[in-house]
Amino acid sequence: MSADTPLMPIAGAIDPVPVPRAATKRADGRVELVGLSKAHIRAELEAAGLEAGQAKLRAKQLWHWIYNRGVSDFAAMSDIAKAQRGWFAEHFVISRPEVVEAQVSTDGTRKWLLKTHDGHDFEMVFIPDADRGTLCVSSQVGCTLNCRFCHTGTMQLVRNLEPAEIVGQVMLARDALGEWPSQPEGRLLTNIVMMGMGEPLYNFDNVRDALKIVMDGDGLGLSRRRITLSTSGVVPMMGRAGEEIGVNLAVSLHAVTKEVRDEIVPLNRKYGIEQLLEACAAYPGANNARRITFEYVMLKDKNDSDEHARELVRLIRRYRLPAKVNLIPFNPWPGAAYECSDEDRIRSFSNIIFEAGISAPVRTPRGRDIDAACGQLKTAAERKRRKAAA
Ligand code: SAH
Ligand code: SF4
Repeated sequence: MSADTPLMPIAGAIDPVPVPRAATKRADGRVELVGLSKAHIRAELEAAGLEAGQAKLRAKQLWHWIYNRGVSDFAAMSDIAKAQRGWFAEHFVISRPEVVEAQVSTDGTRKWLLKTHDGHDFEMVFIPDADRGTLCVSSQVGCTLNCRFCHTGTMQLVRNLEPAEIVGQVMLARDALGEWPSQPEGRLLTNIVMMGMGEPLYNFDNVRDALKIVMDGDGLGLSRRRITLSTSGVVPMMGRAGEEIGVNLAVSLHAVTKEVRDEIVPLNRKYGIEQLLEACAAYPGANNARRITFEYVMLKDKNDSDEHARELVRLIRRYRLPAKVNLIPFNPWPGAAYECSDEDRIRSFSNIIFEAGISAPVRTPRGRDIDAACGQLKTAAERKRRKAAA
């Protein structure tokens, strides 16, 4: 293994616990500025020797260069004296995750295999549509939750991504799309979904800090209404997500009975369907204009009967949830225990929900030719390594 960071302990499939993990120090001792709040940048500048007034002014300028202009080289910061630019470069860095591989699908979807500075691989996907462009961002390397239909859940390698690595994904996408400086109109990258690798609510602090930067009006400037956080149902963190981040919520429900959900989303054994739906009903900011999305992966003969669809409608009504349902055709991967439901079955399931007055679109899988589709974000590099070792 090339990675040299201690791994976050994996606490088990049913009752994983979030493990706090300090930011990894860069080998050269310089401080990464990406991912720090404005106040934190200022404090770092003072700690490196700038007096308070200077630090305040420079922090503001740096913020603009980093997040509005997309600059990662201090030498380009024309409103800072040349000598001081050199001093900055000795003490600080503005970096991006390293790109190992970038692929473009025949349908325009792009996938990046990225590497953290300490050698862990993770992935990011950009999905262009007629009226929007959605970046699917990862929150962890791997995932501790082991949902049985999800390829990411089979990965052994896990650590939380740091704020710099989460914001860094958005910045890298902007680099690739040529979208600097930040501007309010005419962007290709308009939406963000925290639906890449990992469970964002098991990396709460880093995801929150990163999204605050993404939403900052002086910086990347994406509205919280255009950001969606997807959780498999980490009930105790859902209230805080609403209060402290305030983005749209998506919940990976996938089943309507305890028996089936226990099997396919093992976290259900800890936080059951009732508890989860109560937390949805209490989610701050959810209303008819901002609905909660329920994701439902269509698994043949497992969760896809008409009766399951009717029960889904009953549950949404019982908890009075402002809801929409996203039906996701299962993306098979080698060794998966399930198959995707037939098209007719998916249509029938969707119709039952739709006829109850709830929107239930079937998601079109995107980027299948480059393994970019949902739940396939397990790095090609890992597969290649394993092949080489075999
Ligand atoms: N951990 C979070 C977010 C990442 S997963 C969560 O589970 O919500 C993003 C979405 O992809 C989830 O709804 C997940 O259930 C779905 N997904 C995972 N594997 C899939 C697969 N093989 N086919 C289709 N959807 C999948
Ligand atoms: Fe983790 Fe989400 Fe995959 Fe479940 S579906 S294993 S929570 S990434």
